[in-house]
Amino acid sequence: MNLWMKPYVRLVLLLIIAILAAGGEVLFAGGFHSEIPAASSATQPLSKQMNEPQTPKQKIAAEKPGRKVVSIAEMDGSSTGLKNSERWAVLHGQKNVRLFPDSSKPVILAAGFGMEFPVLAQKNGWLEIRIDRNQKGWLQASGISVITRPAEQQVVDLQTDSVLRSGPDTYFDRVKTLEHESSSFIPLELNGRWLKVEQIENQQIFWTAMSNVKGWRGEELVLPAMSRTSQAAEKFQTNRTLFGKTVVIDPGHGGEDSGAIAGGLPVYERDLNLAAAKVLSRKLSSAGARVIMTRTSDDQTVSLQDRVDVSNKVKADAFVSIHQNIYPENPSVSGSITFYNHAPSKELALDIQHSLTGALTTSENQDHVQNEELFVLRENKQPAVLVEGCFLSNPQEMKDSIFPDYHEQLAAGIFHGLLHYFSNH
Ligand SMILES: [Zn+2]
Repeated sequence: MNLWMKPYVRLVLLLIIAILAAGGEVLFAGGFHSEIPAASSATQPLSKQMNEPQTPKQKIAAEKPGRKVVSIAEMDGSSTGLKNSERWAVLHGQKNVRLFPDSSKPVILAAGFGMEFPVLAQKNGWLEIRIDRNQKGWLQASGISVITRPAEQQVVDLQTDSVLRSGPDTYFDRVKTLEHESSSFIPLELNGRWLKVEQIENQQIFWTAMSNVKGWRGEELVLPAMSRTSQAAEKFQTNRTLFGKTVVIDPGHGGEDSGAIAGGLPVYERDLNLAAAKVLSRKLSSAGARVIMTRTSDDQTVSLQDRVDVSNKVKADAFVSIHQNIYPENPSVSGSITFYNHAPSKELALDIQHSLTGALTTSENQDHVQNEELFVLRENKQPAVLVEGCFLSNPQEMKDSIFPDYHEQLAAGIFHGLLHYFSNH
């Protein structure tokens, strides 16, 4: 048995090596953040994705900048159409759930004995699972039982004349209007006042306003639980303060640009930024805000100009870029910092930083806010901040940064800062 190959053992060993190394000298690749527009080898500029005329099928795929719509059939790895049963992974011991099917990728959840998750796909000895409504992850298939259960599926009916769109707002393309057909839909995701649905007959995915859902009383909609580890039903309650606010979340770096790399460890800043951004996105959209992410996967390269363009185009009420800092010259430097550039953004920075210092157990207790001419802040016409969650050059903060607790704390800090800011704006 090759102990080194066990992901958990490997991670622990790597951490020990890193901590030992920190006593002497820690090397960092990636350099300081260069907030200079990346050479435009970007896959597809976001602005382009949003403007290009497309065929109806492509329109659906472009529902959100950079986000791919996965049909239920694709999620299953089967083409059986409407699911009558679904597969569940049952754990018999502790297992790490990772962002990607690779034991060097960040752990997003330490799952324990007896936990069960719906299985979405299987690939090279890895299972893709659904953790909750908005988050997926990968588990190594060895030592896991996969069982089949009848599917629990809730269906919603829409009013006739409902407009079905390619994304969660009126500026997204109108794909069709429901006429006389009586059609049932599977609710997939809630984003502010918009619901993502799948039409059962043809498995097409659309967004529609919540007011089109029959039985919607303007307050809340109870959707079925996606995971048996969560409560019987996940309740989305809109929050008056955040209701209708547009927040652009910008997970720093991505794709060819890994951001800072912790010394010798397969820990990339881009992955940590995205992990925290996804938690923040879930918190905000569950509370009724409209959330737009500038990237949703680790392999997307997005230029700084495109990130700013999204913010200006949707007239974001707040733009939050998420990063992790490094300062190799002095590994003892730790804590979070929130940058702003234009004076009107200072209040947003103060609210977020104040809330962050309370939320982060890793952070030094200080309200560190700084005016800095960073590209995504300087070119932004909307209230904009750049949050540096921790220092990857600090051995303790680097060690904490890969765990879901940290991503949760960072997201919760930003979330409560936004809540405070919007209660006055
Ligand atoms: Zn960065």
